[in-house]
Amino acid sequence: MKVGFIGAGKMAKALCQGFISTGLINKSEILASDINPSKLKEISRLGVQTTSCNREVVKKNDIVYVAVKPPLVREVLREVSPVVNPSNLFVSIAAGITTKTMEEVLPKGCRVIRVMPNIAVVVQAGACAYTPGTSAKNEDVEVVTQMLTCVGSVEEIPEELMDTVTGLSGNGPAYGFITIQGLADGGVKMGLNREQSTRLAAQLLLGAAKMVLGIDSHPEQMKDEVCSPGGTSIHALHKLEKSGFRAALVDAVEAGTLRSKELG
Ligand code: NAD
Repeated sequence: MKVGFIGAGKMAKALCQGFISTGLINKSEILASDINPSKLKEISRLGVQTTSCNREVVKKNDIVYVAVKPPLVREVLREVSPVVNPSNLFVSIAAGITTKTMEEVLPKGCRVIRVMPNIAVVVQAGACAYTPGTSAKNEDVEVVTQMLTCVGSVEEIPEELMDTVTGLSGNGPAYGFITIQGLADGGVKMGLNREQSTRLAAQLLLGAAKMVLGIDSHPEQMKDEVCSPGGTSIHALHKLEKSGFRAALVDAVEAGTLRSKELG
């Protein structure tokens, strides 16, 4: 499989690392373009081919990931439009940019799929969602699903909810990182060293996530089961509820969703 990337920043690099490490794509079969030579140098350390020409990526690859910042997507698609051919499939990972916008800029009938991955694809633990454009074929959906499955979980989502996915799982690793930091600070405050505290905090979230995904039980029920009467968990949870922990998470997802809508 040959794959191109327009934009060789953080997400393109994370996806390349994920695809290469699973063996799905040979590193020499990836071509990435960027206007910033230092980004090209950085991504070339993975063994992928690089170019400063976005059109070259489209000419040489059927599957083209669009991995520039959302305000640049229209400009980049306009730039490559003259060299688009019927075998091209465009996969945009840009927040807020709809399949309709892409289809309007690209030549008529062009196949597009909008994807929202997250940075955890780098360790094959991404949470990804996609929505196909009007001309995308079943085979296109299959190939993109296959690629994303190699680097994480995949959900098909109606387009009107893709901004919500951005606010939840697209941004989500950032929520996880500060949660881990906060918990680790707590451990340090109460005497653990920083390294052990951070490892314990990260592992406890990983364990909770695995339980939610792997056991057919509601998270609320699992929470109840670990809260013994008068015990340490319920005392700690009382503090979290008092500080509006759940409401803060709801607010965060809402804010991320609304920002994604603005970017479109
Ligand atoms: P980034 O800034 O790290 O990468 C964008 C790259 O595009 C940069 O290297 C930049 O030099 C390059 N670029 C700018 N103009 C260009 C042009 N005309 N032609 C070619 N390259 C050009 O940003 P990122 O975090 O990798 O985000 C890329 C996209 O991925 C965004 O649209 C974002 O919404 C989406 N996304 C990001 C994350 C995340 O966690 N970072 C998660 C999900 C989706």
